[in-house]
Amino acid sequence: LFHLFDKILIGDLSQESLMMKYLFYNAFILSMDSALSCYDKGIVQIDGSEIIYVGNGACAPPKFNPDRIVDCQGDILMPGFVNAHAHTAMTLFRGYGSGKNLQDWLYNYIFPIEEKLLPEDVYFGSMIGIAEMLLSGTTCFNDMYNFEPETAKALAESGMRGRLCSIHTLDEAYAARLVRDWDGAAEGRIRICMGLHSIYTKTGPELRRGGEIANRLGVGVHIHVSETTKEVEDCLAQNGCTPFAYLAQLGVLDNPVVAAHCVDLRPGDLELMKRYSVAVAHCPSSNLKLGSGISPVAKMRDSGITVGLGTDGVASNNNVDMLEEASLASLLSKGFLKRPEVMDAMETLAMATRDSATAIGLGDCIGTLAPGKRADMIRVSRQGLYYMPYIAQPEHQLLYSGNRNDIRMTMVDGNILAEDGELKTIDLDYILSGYKKCIERLYAGGGVNG
Ligand SMILES: [Zn+2]
Repeated sequence: LFHLFDKILIGDLSQESLMMKYLFYNAFILSMDSALSCYDKGIVQIDGSEIIYVGNGACAPPKFNPDRIVDCQGDILMPGFVNAHAHTAMTLFRGYGSGKNLQDWLYNYIFPIEEKLLPEDVYFGSMIGIAEMLLSGTTCFNDMYNFEPETAKALAESGMRGRLCSIHTLDEAYAARLVRDWDGAAEGRIRICMGLHSIYTKTGPELRRGGEIANRLGVGVHIHVSETTKEVEDCLAQNGCTPFAYLAQLGVLDNPVVAAHCVDLRPGDLELMKRYSVAVAHCPSSNLKLGSGISPVAKMRDSGITVGLGTDGVASNNNVDMLEEASLASLLSKGFLKRPEVMDAMETLAMATRDSATAIGLGDCIGTLAPGKRADMIRVSRQGLYYMPYIAQPEHQLLYSGNRNDIRMTMVDGNILAEDGELKTIDLDYILSGYKKCIERLYAGGGVNG
């Protein structure tokens, strides 16, 4: 019944997008295309869910009769942020178990309280996360969690784009059902892959079987790899090789893999990642907060490995603000390597958009502003005092001076889902009342170990 409800809702959204033609003008455009083209006083034309023109107006399609014309007043237009590693429903556990290392936090705080999760918790937690993402300029996220159909429902209803997988389940029938029911649903905004959590929560045979299931279903794999030194040292002691070599032996890397974190890499790992085309989701806030370390991002990128950017769950971040994450990623690499030229503003913003999209297999569809791509776009104001005196390049202003409050509009698949701080498809009062009931039940008696 829920499915029927979703299909009707999706129909409504797509009809609206098919009808709407937008013309945005007077914008500073950061296209994030392969040449990293920028246009001052640029124009973007959108027809339904598709971008049909990006440029300075020359050669724009004639006879375009827009339903809405937007004067961007010099604001930035760019592709929406793509969060390459998230556990969106963890808005239920924001900040829970702070000050612990990964193993302590995961096994003594997060896993025990997640035992209490019900499907509706995941729905309301996902909706809160999606609302937060839309207001901060994120248009797609790569998620790994429990009760995925609930997050899929939240995606369908909100108009957001996402790629989902189960964090623990290795039940092939369940995975197949998830793919059948949701892969390509909601006008193609929902994609499904296979989640394997990590090498330390699964046995070798389980990991091998997970890889085989992904292969049979024709979907990619989403997994945490080499997040901490403990994970790598334990793997060396138990299996005589690094986590990446272990995953290669088990056949997991034969699938398209998104590896979250990759903080502690050892000799040979970069070559393996390159050989198997492993894509990385870099999550600097989470790595710092859990005391895991600093990922060698510049080294991976120099080796030709695709590296996207993610926030991880908000229990270890504590938000889903991709602009803040991008700023941190850039500054951290510069300071850590004592090389101010690495991870410049444009490259880092490309990592948070185009490269994240490529990492999760959606590079042909989203991640840049270009004709033929889905209209996933944000408008960012440059009106704040902290942007003056406008002598810096707009991408520098945005990354090092700007913040999430500058996001004026978030569009997904040609639909404006948030504008001037207002959510267009999410009834926040309803979502908040449901969310608060879930929180009361989950933390009754002070939570677990609380
Ligand atoms: Zn994670």
